Amino acid sequence: MGDTGESSIIPISGPDGYRQPPPDAPRAWENTDRAQAVMEGAAGPEPPAGPTCPNCGLVGDRHVTYYGTHVLLEPGMPVPAHMVPAWHRWYIDSNATAWNSREDEPAPGALCRIPHRIACPGLKLEEIGLWRWLDAVRAENARRAQRKADEEATPEALPEVG
Ligand SMILES: [Zn+2]
Repeated sequence: MGDTGESSIIPISGPDGYRQPPPDAPRAWENTDRAQAVMEGAAGPEPPAGPTCPNCGLVGDRHVTYYGTHVLLEPGMPVPAHMVPAWHRWYIDSNATAWNSREDEPAPGALCRIPHRIACPGLKLEEIGLWRWLDAVRAENARRAQRKADEEATPEALPEVG
């Protein structure tokens, strides 16, 4: 490999942690990209389909991400980032590419965009996955409640011992 001094990485204005290789580079990280898209909720709809929510039919503000899939953002609605749960804070770079700040704490006074998904009237709260840590606590509590109910039901199921 010749040393041209040129980086194969496209410099972007977002934090370094979110840099992605150029879209025409070999796709060895395709699975990683797909995993990142799922983690961050960048689930399209992908062009040539329109920027319409499949769950409610409203039109969103669609942006491409650095890993190539698209995210449908709530249109015209910048929100104070500290009011938005982690993993749902999106920022738009000057090249119109969207990136998710994941669990990073927002800077004081920062504004972000939210995915349409968390404002979608076509989804139930449980389907949205708004607070991941809270969902994990609820899932654990559901298991504990079930265990407790099972333990309490057991003596009644047994015949009376006289
Ligand atoms: Zn919707």
